[in-house]
Amino acid sequence: MLRFYAMEIAEALKNILENIKCSAVKADRDLDKIKLITVSKTIELQRVIEAVNAGATILGESRVQEARSKIEGFNGEVEWHLIGNLQKNKARTAVELFDLIHSVDSAELAAELNKHAKNAGIVQDILVQVKLSEEYTKHGADEKDLMVLLNAVAGMENLRLQGLMTIPPFFDDPEEARPYFRKLRKIAERASAQGFTMNELSMGMSNDYEVAIEEGATMVRVGTAIFGARKYKI
Ligand SMILES: *Cc1c(COP(=O)(O)O)cnc(C)c1O
Repeated sequence: MLRFYAMEIAEALKNILENIKCSAVKADRDLDKIKLITVSKTIELQRVIEAVNAGATILGESRVQEARSKIEGFNGEVEWHLIGNLQKNKARTAVELFDLIHSVDSAELAAELNKHAKNAGIVQDILVQVKLSEEYTKHGADEKDLMVLLNAVAGMENLRLQGLMTIPPFFDDPEEARPYFRKLRKIAERASAQGFTMNELSMGMSNDYEVAIEEGATMVRVGTAIFGARKYKI
């Protein structure tokens, strides 16, 4: 059974890395600037280990508690990213566990992370999550509030802004997600023109990562296309 899983995961991972390469070529982009975040939320540790053995180097988790149990099973050979919504009362643990937090969407949360990073004597890398679609997600900063939030983050010495993240609505046809990806890139270009660091654009999931890469994604977050459908939803 494990061998079967391992082959499946290794093969899926290889396909995705190949597709990423094709999209990079198609968009005339530097492959080194595109990272695959292997989304391991809800996936049992053994299968996550199989993915790492097959070459996954960055793992994405949605929940702090679930991530902690997995991270304790590893010893530093992979990067862990928090991609899900973060509550302020979990900020301290998030700072302990994650190399990059993709989901900072308020000045209050940023301040809490900054405080815990300072106490821990570290600088925490973060992305600001932007909400581009009212109906679809609860989380993310509204575009109109973004510059105020970026300015607030810039004043927090123990946070290091790396860029932006977004989750567009789900469409069967990934082409329909393209305007959202393009919009995030435009927003990042404006923020960059105002002096904010915009190294990373975290956008694109199993269904639409290729389109996201064509529109400038530097991080794609892929779960289902690697591990298969999740048994439960979070
Ligand atoms: C679950 C999740 C993903 C991965 O989604 P798939 O469709 O399984 O690839 C990516 N980003 C976020 C924020 C998620 O919560």
